[in-house]
Order: sequence, then C-alpha cells, then structure tokens
Amino acid sequence: MTNTIRDSAPMAPVPFVDLSLQYQELNAEIEEAIHDVIGRGDFILGKALREFEAAFASACGAEYGIGVASGTAAIAIGLQACGVEPGDEVLVPANTFIATLIGIMQARAVPVLVDCDPSTALIDIAAAERAVTPKTRAILPVHLYGQMVAPGQLLDLALTHNLTVFEDAAQAHLARRENYRAGSVGRAAAFSFYPSKNLGAFGSGGMVVTRDEAVAQQCRILRNYGAPEKYVHTEFGTNSRLDTIQAAVLNVKLPHLESWNRDRNSAAEQYDTQLLLLRDRGIVPMFNHCEDGHVYHLYVIRVTEESPLSRDDLQHKLGELGIQTGIHYPIPCHLQPGYKDLGYKAGDFPHTETLSGQILSLPMFPGITNSQVNQVVEGIYTALGVKRE
Ligand SMILES: *Cc1c(COP(=O)(O)O)cnc(C)c1O
Repeated sequence: MTNTIRDSAPMAPVPFVDLSLQYQELNAEIEEAIHDVIGRGDFILGKALREFEAAFASACGAEYGIGVASGTAAIAIGLQACGVEPGDEVLVPANTFIATLIGIMQARAVPVLVDCDPSTALIDIAAAERAVTPKTRAILPVHLYGQMVAPGQLLDLALTHNLTVFEDAAQAHLARRENYRAGSVGRAAAFSFYPSKNLGAFGSGGMVVTRDEAVAQQCRILRNYGAPEKYVHTEFGTNSRLDTIQAAVLNVKLPHLESWNRDRNSAAEQYDTQLLLLRDRGIVPMFNHCEDGHVYHLYVIRVTEESPLSRDDLQHKLGELGIQTGIHYPIPCHLQPGYKDLGYKAGDFPHTETLSGQILSLPMFPGITNSQVNQVVEGIYTALGVKRE
C-alpha cells in the first residue's frame, strides 16, 4: 500500500552530508575554545594543538600525534619521516582519492598502483605482492570509506618483503579491525580533518600518528621549516602545521566522535537491511568485514549489470527525487589527465575501472534519521520501478 499523505506532500530533500547538526550541538563550546586561543594568542604550535595531538594519538592507539596542515601533508611528511627516499617505490591502491598519490609524489617517491578487491574496494593484498620490486620501500594501504585493510595480511606482506606500512586513515578515524585501530597498524599513519571527514575542522587540517619517537621527532622538524630549534635548519622542511584554532575546534569535537561513528553504523545497518531485497536487481552494498569497527565515512553501493538502470541514470533519478548522492571516485587515479606521466593506461586495473562506473555513495552523516534513510531506499525502489513489499 502506498501512503496517500506521502504521495500528496513532497518530501524534504535528503542532503548527502549535513554538518550543521554537529555545529548546533557544540556551538557554544566551540566558540569559547576559539576565543581562548585568541586570548592566549598562541596561534602557531599552541597549547590546544599539543592537547589535541596527545588526545587524538591516544584515541588511535598511537603514542605521538603531529598536527599538520592537511591529510595530504600528513602523507608527504610522514613518509619522509619514515625514511622513504626519492625514487623509492610505494605500493598504493589505484582507487583512492588523488591526494594519496599527491602525498607520495611530494615525498618524491614513486607511486606503484595496485588493483582492488571489488567486493570491498580495498587494496588487493595479493596484487600488491605481485607488484613488489627490489625498489619497493613501503605499502600505503587506504582504509577506504571507513573500513580498514586487514592488518594481519598487511603486516605479513610487510614482514616478508621488508616494507614499511604507512596507513592513509583519512576516512577511518577510530575504525577497528582485528583488535587494531586505524593508525596503529603501520610505522605511522596519516589522518585528515577536512570538514566533511568523520572528524572535521573548520577548514583544512591533518595529523601523522606514530608509536615511533624518532619518526615523530622528524615530523615535528619537517613541518616547521626543517628546524629542530629556531633558525637551525637541518632538513629541507616545509611550513605545514595544524592551526591552534583548528585544534581547539577538534578538541571539542573529539569526545563525540565515537558516538557519531555509532550513528553512522546504525544508518549503515538500516541501509543494509532495507536494500537486501534489491540485491537481485543489481543493488549491492560494499562488503563489511569489520562489523562495528567500520566507521562508514561513506556508505557505498554498487549498481551492477543486473540493475535495470545504469549508475548514472539511478543517480540522476534520485536527484530528481531530492536525494543527493556522490561518486567516490568517478575517474581512477591512473586515468587522470594530470597523471599520464606515471605511464598507466585504461585496462591496467580492471576492478578499479569497473567500480568507478558502478559505485554510488548514499547520504551518510551523524544525525541522519531513520526516516531519511527510509526515504533514500524508497527513492531507489521508485527509480528502479520496483514495488516495495
Ligand atoms: C581526504 C583524503 C585525503 C586528503 O586529505 P586533505 O586533508 O584533503 O589533504 C587523503 N586520502 C584520502 C583517502 C582522503 O579521503
């Protein structure tokens, strides 16, 4: 039976993300924290930054946190601090956000791309092993969409081939798998606090976390003009610090992160359950290996050949129904026009290429309501022309 009230009253649009909810909740506390920084005037490498570095590192099961200007910078600085040198090869998934490659290339290392497991979109460890050469120095797994790459398999591969593991955890704040937290598997890890990430600042920000004191010290030098002490420059460093004001905002938000991630998990469970009957119509959610350790930065479905609609047509129809969706990512890194020099071509990473035409990210954010999720699912049924039982 269709609901007549619903048929006559157009429903409010469902946004892809809604960050205003978090702000309303913490508004007063955040403004106070910002004013404290202004009062102290310690805008660069200030007190709130040191507090946030310690708190976030500890939440990740790491020892040291080094706040930097972005997730991209965290990758570049973190890799250099781990001893990755110009010309070293770094294994990295072909389906990631381009910033992962930028970080590697800023460290003047060579990204060696690897295909993914199509059921999870995570790096295929067996394919990574086949790509190892005598020049391979590190593997850079990306905990994509909020799901960690299997720590056991990663560490085995690293041990066998003497590789450094450096995690891109920009989408996986507080994710867990096999008793590891994202950021505690490798020698070091990079996080981003881009506003729409699971933990987002009021601007750009990032952090390297590590248990290795020497790596931490090297990051502190590199982010601050290559200077271990003022006006002594032992390294060719850069200027890349997390602003104290951003750290103050993040300090207020961090205690809520666990509960926001739980919100994301319940929404994902609801999507999983309600989309189950559309599996034979080609709507297939990405597989979750982690149960409640997945932090669902994104909730991604595949629109396979069995679907009566292409991904693009489904996205378009959902848009007409007021449901905003995204594609993460529509063009794989190896086919990006600016990256031709890496020497890859269409056909090199078949799973990644197929996925880029099939994936669709549904609305997902802390505070998304049951009825919003239901409205998205209803929209998918309507778009596909399937009657909902
Ligand atoms: C967001 C993101 C980055 C880059 O972070 P910025 O803070 O935007 O520089 C890197 N890798 C992945 C997987 C990301 O999602």
